[in-house]
Amino acid sequence: MLARELNRSTCKTYLVACEETRAAALIDPVKERVDRYLALLAYHRCTLTFVIDTHTHADHRTAALDLRDLTGAQLVMHRRAPAPLVDRHVTDGDRLELGTVRLDVLATPGHTPDGISLYTGDRVFTGDTLLIHGTGRADFAGGDAGAQYDSITKKLFALPEATLIFPAHDYRGHTQSTIGDEKRSNPRLAGRSRDEYVTLMGNLGLPLPEKIQESLQANQSAIEDEAVHFPTFAQLNAVRQLSPEEVQARLAAAPPPLVVDVREPSEFHGELGHIPGSTLIPLRELPAHAPELAARKDADIIVVCRAGVRSATAAAILTGSGCERVWNLRGGMLDWNEEGRAVER
Ligand code: FE
Repeated sequence: MLARELNRSTCKTYLVACEETRAAALIDPVKERVDRYLALLAYHRCTLTFVIDTHTHADHRTAALDLRDLTGAQLVMHRRAPAPLVDRHVTDGDRLELGTVRLDVLATPGHTPDGISLYTGDRVFTGDTLLIHGTGRADFAGGDAGAQYDSITKKLFALPEATLIFPAHDYRGHTQSTIGDEKRSNPRLAGRSRDEYVTLMGNLGLPLPEKIQESLQANQSAIEDEAVHFPTFAQLNAVRQLSPEEVQARLAAAPPPLVVDVREPSEFHGELGHIPGSTLIPLRELPAHAPELAARKDADIIVVCRAGVRSATAAAILTGSGCERVWNLRGGMLDWNEEGRAVER
């Protein structure tokens, strides 16, 4: 196996490839470095098979979409990832094959709900779930410190002690660690119960990442252009949420609400289907349609997407455009399907 750590910065990208077939994966590539990645792949005579984001990044723009478009590689993320254009959604226990190299997917939520780790047999790429002598923060973007504790202690710490750890970030110049090292001496975890860990993580008092606004929402929506002005966090937090059950009840009432699905057409017609009677307006086109929706003062509007993340952005945009009666389907079509509710395909 060919394995390289690519960014000499706090933000880590990894190249993994099969030495025989030259099939390669890039893990957590950064947008500014696309040219370097392409040069490096060419230098190693590798073909990019997978581009993998271990989670939805909040501190930098992902290069995953650029690399997917430029090389034809498959974009791989966890099933819970909110972004469109993911070619292969993975869940715990899935396996990605690169010639003779196997990447076993471990679902390791906590830093975000869509966190995965990738285990090759001698090393594990841990995303921001487990860092070297640290852990990724769990206080925004759907983070859950308890889930993170479980991911680390039950899944990652179940790997062989000699397994090398390669995280998505390192802020202190650490270069190497193993599962055994972290079990014994990770300062956030060693000797702490789940409750103690949750309390610790709730009191870190860290400032938000500098580029969070532009990074997070752009990565979640795959929108590049200026057509969409992303709402602020205050606007997002003010979005009113409905559970699938509540949406179902409103659909049965008269007059029924307008259900606006803001996914891409391929998703609307894809595996998860859509709510019967819903109208497709992809997020990137929503600002142009906002005035006509705002003019319908009488109608309740329920916005829907894959995971309930892009649609929260949509709801905030509509509210900002003068729509008064807007709600978001929490958990999106993922939860809608999980609850076995009616879909049209
Ligand atoms: Fe992260």
